[in-house]
Amino acid sequence: MKDRAPSFTRHVLAHGAVVANKFWYGDGSPFLGPSFTAKKTADRQDEIIALILKAAKKAEKTEDKQLANAFHDLADKLYNCHPHHRCGSLACPECARAFQKAKTAAQETVISKLQKSRPKKQLVFVTIVPKGKTFSPGKFSRIDIIKANRWLKDTLKPLGKRIIVGSADLGWESRRGGSYIQLHWHLALCTNNPDRIEKKLKASFKRGMKYERHIDVKVARDYGFLPYVNKVIKLPDLLRRNRTYLPELLLALDQTEPLDLLVFTQLRLSAQEGRLLLRPI
Ligand SMILES: [Zn+2]
Repeated sequence: MKDRAPSFTRHVLAHGAVVANKFWYGDGSPFLGPSFTAKKTADRQDEIIALILKAAKKAEKTEDKQLANAFHDLADKLYNCHPHHRCGSLACPECARAFQKAKTAAQETVISKLQKSRPKKQLVFVTIVPKGKTFSPGKFSRIDIIKANRWLKDTLKPLGKRIIVGSADLGWESRRGGSYIQLHWHLALCTNNPDRIEKKLKASFKRGMKYERHIDVKVARDYGFLPYVNKVIKLPDLLRRNRTYLPELLLALDQTEPLDLLVFTQLRLSAQEGRLLLRPI
């Protein structure tokens, strides 16, 4: 079952740069908030490993050997993730946090350059919750971020050629009618007409039945929203109220390369001196 581990075939150099740079695993900037210090993340790492091992035991009881092995492999991977040997898995709280920080820093840099060159435009924080793209427990392995991001970029075409940065995000929804993961996006872009952006997005993306606001466009005063854009999941919240389905979600995250979550248009991703770089094409 060892071949379950993702081989990180895309963005290889950029991926390697993040996991090799201790800075992203420490408490340097960007600050992600008091719940996401290196210490609290290390504690959460232990909690996650225990939770995965419990799920492995449960799978053994139901004689689902394949699932039990998958959980054991993931627990081993997270347990063996150390400063000199990082696993780079999105299911690993320490590695996922490192990617969140590296992505946030890269986006901050490209946005601040963009704002300097176009001082009259406003920076906006966009949330898009598409119709569909929902996954019930038992179906999390169907989450295909690469395909979803391709669809997003196609659907964003009416906005014209412009620089957009952001990330896919997985939200846990429990509502009447069941609980599920909703794939959605948080993006940042500069515009001199936020209302027109909102109108165009509303015309492009259909609204799901359960959402009153499937498109949200807010003018941003600073870059404080970027860590939120790059969080992927709300781990402390899931640990509090969704321990049942979290192990399955972690298996799905482990199959997703962290940098594939990134959304960027008119930019190229590279790495330099342990940092991610988003440079205009
Ligand atoms: Zn790791």
